[in-house]
Amino acid sequence: MMLAGWGRYPRADCRVIAARSQADVLATVAAETSLIARGNGRAYGDAALNPAATLNLCRDDRFIAFDEASGVLTAAAGALLADILDCLVPRGWFPPVTPGTKFVTLGGMLAADVHGKNHHKAGTIGDHVESLDLALADGRVVRCSREDNAPLFAATLGGMGLTGVILGAQLKLQRIESAYVRQETLRARDLDAIMDLFEASRDWTYTVAWIDCLARGRDLGRALLYRGEHARNDELPARRRAAPFTLPVRRTRRMPVDFPAVMLNRWTVAAFNRFFYRASRPGTAIVDYDRFFYPLDTIHEWNRMYGSGGFVQYQCVLPKAASRAGLSALLDRIAAAGAGSFLSVLKLLGPGRGMLSFPMEGYTLALDFRADPANLALLTELDAIVAAHGGRVYLAKDARIAAGDFRQSYAGLNDFAAVRNAVDPARKFASLQSRRLGL
Ligand SMILES: Cc1cc2nc3c(=O)[nH]c(=O)nc-3n(C[C@H](O)[C@H](O)[C@H](O)COP(=O)(O)OP(=O)(O)OC[C@H]3O[C@@H](n4cnc5c(N)ncnc54)[C@H](O)[C@@H]3O)c2cc1C
Repeated sequence: MMLAGWGRYPRADCRVIAARSQADVLATVAAETSLIARGNGRAYGDAALNPAATLNLCRDDRFIAFDEASGVLTAAAGALLADILDCLVPRGWFPPVTPGTKFVTLGGMLAADVHGKNHHKAGTIGDHVESLDLALADGRVVRCSREDNAPLFAATLGGMGLTGVILGAQLKLQRIESAYVRQETLRARDLDAIMDLFEASRDWTYTVAWIDCLARGRDLGRALLYRGEHARNDELPARRRAAPFTLPVRRTRRMPVDFPAVMLNRWTVAAFNRFFYRASRPGTAIVDYDRFFYPLDTIHEWNRMYGSGGFVQYQCVLPKAASRAGLSALLDRIAAAGAGSFLSVLKLLGPGRGMLSFPMEGYTLALDFRADPANLALLTELDAIVAAHGGRVYLAKDARIAAGDFRQSYAGLNDFAAVRNAVDPARKFASLQSRRLGL
């Protein structure tokens, strides 16, 4: 079938095999010479595409055990984050780290070593994994953790499915007192102001900013900072205290059609950004976790907004010392091209963990571009700016970076290759992305 990532660019005709159990995975690994695991297809680009064999893990979504004392969940790799939330939030537990969508699998989160709005405090999802079970190219199943098979464990977190198929994992969750978040919204009039606000908000568990990517001159980098804490029961409005884990009823909608390309242009995007900046009210609010963490999930198939040709999300991180200069250069170039998106996100990350895991201490910027030739050429220019400032792009979002730019920017690449040479010398596990990047 024709398959794509969340950005719907690129598309490829892939032979898709559905695994319903660990036995199915092992049989497929034994039978195929080239394959890649796939979760729920929320990586934006070509990371979960292999025309020869793409192994869909979503059918094996079992929860195997949950330890109420320690908060450790044992689940199959296909378990969906949305189901983990539905099941465990009412019991007072929340994932230690969450991406901006809940429609991802446990295996997909580990393979991308996802980060959330709390990266500066909690690190990546990998920092909360006790162990994972991995099916290797030679048919063995090994348990990996910080103590056992440590290099393989480190390579698999962020390894984009290239070390083997994650069968399941043990993940330690955090305690919460309610399904709500105390959110504060602050306005920053330019790039210096938003960077100062991030620094001043380091003690907050969750911080993230929406940034107006088309503002220029004095307004360059104007933004809204959202910071949050899981709300204690006594912080909830009185009417919610008796049932602190009950969410308000909210209708989800569906993007009905692919938007025509003309709807998304520099004027509509600039107008939206201006309106969003001015209309947002600074202040404090108690909001439910869906609204705080997953605002986009209420519109199913919102990826159709960029038209039938698809889109690319560009997410890069710049080392902290180079962030001010690098972000100005990136935003200047994007605004000059008039090419940015409705939703551009800025976040201050904490230190990273090496190998292929994306985060490093510094600022990460993420924004969408319709996948057309002019924008793709612009992104190549952005790659040069990122490289010149010592940064790198995130593989879970990538669909097009050149091998040379990629290889320069991940210092842990040799360690990653050494692990793969040991467990998969023939490179059985491969994706369109890994081939493009020469991995
Ligand atoms: C709206 C939106 C918001 C997002 N926000 C964030 C964010 O805030 N932070 C962040 O870090 N990421 C974010 N992402 C990216 C997303 O979290 C990752 O791409 C994640 O990997 C998707 O999980 P998936 O189950 O859909 O995996 P897929 O997209 O299907 O696969 C992604 C990668 O994981 C590998 N993989 C999947 N399952 C397995 C397995 N069982 N064994 C081995 N490898 C496997 C695949 O081979 C592929 O390389 C966001 C994505 C979207 C669409």
